[in-house]
Amino acid sequence: MRAIVVGGGVAGLVTAHDLAAEGIAVTVLEREEAVARGASGGNGAQLSYSYVAPLAEPSVLGKLPTLLADPASPLKFRLQLDPRQWRWGLAFLAACNLDTARATTAALLRLSFLSRARMPQLVAGIDCDYAVNGKLVVYPDAASLAQAKAQMEFQATLGCAQRLLSRDECIEREPALAGYAQHFVGGVWTASEAAADCGLFCERLAQRLSARGVALRFGAEVARLEVRAGRPHVYVGREALAADAVVLANGSAAPKLARSVGLDLPIYPLKGYSITVPADGQRLPACSITDTRRKVVFAPLGRGKRRRVRVAGFVEMAGHDRSIPPARIAALAAATREVIGLEPRGELAPWCGFRPATPTGLPLLGATRVPGVFLNVGQGALGFTLAAGSARVAVDAIVGREPPIDARPFGLR
Ligand SMILES: Cc1cc2nc3c(=O)[nH]c(=O)nc-3n(C[C@H](O)[C@H](O)[C@H](O)COP(=O)(O)OP(=O)(O)OC[C@H]3O[C@@H](n4cnc5c(N)ncnc54)[C@H](O)[C@@H]3O)c2cc1C
Repeated sequence: MRAIVVGGGVAGLVTAHDLAAEGIAVTVLEREEAVARGASGGNGAQLSYSYVAPLAEPSVLGKLPTLLADPASPLKFRLQLDPRQWRWGLAFLAACNLDTARATTAALLRLSFLSRARMPQLVAGIDCDYAVNGKLVVYPDAASLAQAKAQMEFQATLGCAQRLLSRDECIEREPALAGYAQHFVGGVWTASEAAADCGLFCERLAQRLSARGVALRFGAEVARLEVRAGRPHVYVGREALAADAVVLANGSAAPKLARSVGLDLPIYPLKGYSITVPADGQRLPACSITDTRRKVVFAPLGRGKRRRVRVAGFVEMAGHDRSIPPARIAALAAATREVIGLEPRGELAPWCGFRPATPTGLPLLGATRVPGVFLNVGQGALGFTLAAGSARVAVDAIVGREPPIDARPFGLR
């Protein structure tokens, strides 16, 4: 059997890994000159297995007008002449109800627990600053903390082990938050969360795959797909490559390619930014932190001279605009100073990426109605977290094996 994986981000590479482990001949086609040049390169670095609740939830409806009107808001919506943007927005609003949000959370937790179980084996021998150092999410007021407590109690029924902490307990656990005490009232602590540099993980996994005989082709943009005599073909320039299975794992660019075989993928790019702050002799937090007031995440990475913090945030709905406004980077630097008391010095490696987001937050995994065309896309803000579980579900569909979890929520409707 021969498979082609489109996309050399974390989704494509872990898929290639799992396909190769089945003894399948795999080619990865990547349009850039290296892996992890898309969303997987400079993301928030968090393996956030217990924080998978979707963006679409009931309280968002009440907050949206303020969030959209505030120029300093982490959320930005630029209306475009693009019906796909409007359709996505309407489907997102329709998903903002308790039943949908809870069903999505339950399905995503099953997928993230599968990832969590697989990840230690997958990263073994891959130097990507992987560490299980827990995650603390802090909340600005009593109302948001009460909502977090309700979510925590719901998730406890689904197997999550999390603890509610007072402000003092948060600071005891993470002294880096001491200077920020007046801006939060408490938090939720999850000991089992991990972090790693997703870009490094991709680079080193790609080296391992190459050594095992997986073909990685760069500068190979797939322009379209076609099914001929029941077999999928991909076109790179004029060259047609045939395979038994083609997996679309090309993130936020997948809808365009999928349209060439009549598939309509409800994915829209949600742009975000990151900086990487070197420790430069300063003390760093010991665990990952999310400040829900500013909607910024902090992940300490590495050891010794490589010690650094990845700081990420913002959600912009404005198409595939690759510009990096200095104001966004300044806001991330200011958050670093204020929340964790770290002075951003030296090269901060400003970065932007596009989360391949579905309106509900559920990724699209497995078979489609087009013969031989499979999906591993749409993980949104959780692509690193869900990578190992998603690849397992997608590859099980390709080899015709029953997946370890219920895969129905991830099917393309
Ligand atoms: C600011 C920010 C912070 C984030 N933080 C986290 C986090 O902390 N934890 C987490 O789990 N997730 C996080 N995410 C989400 C995560 O980064 C993404 O979900 C994930 O990287 C998506 O991986 P992917 O492989 O699907 O897409 P990508 O990494 O974008 O890879 C797709 C690849 O396909 C290639 N491609 C596209 N079209 C074609 C084509 N036609 N032919 C050939 N190649 C093509 C692209 O060049 C690209 O390399 C964050 C995202 C952002 C933007």
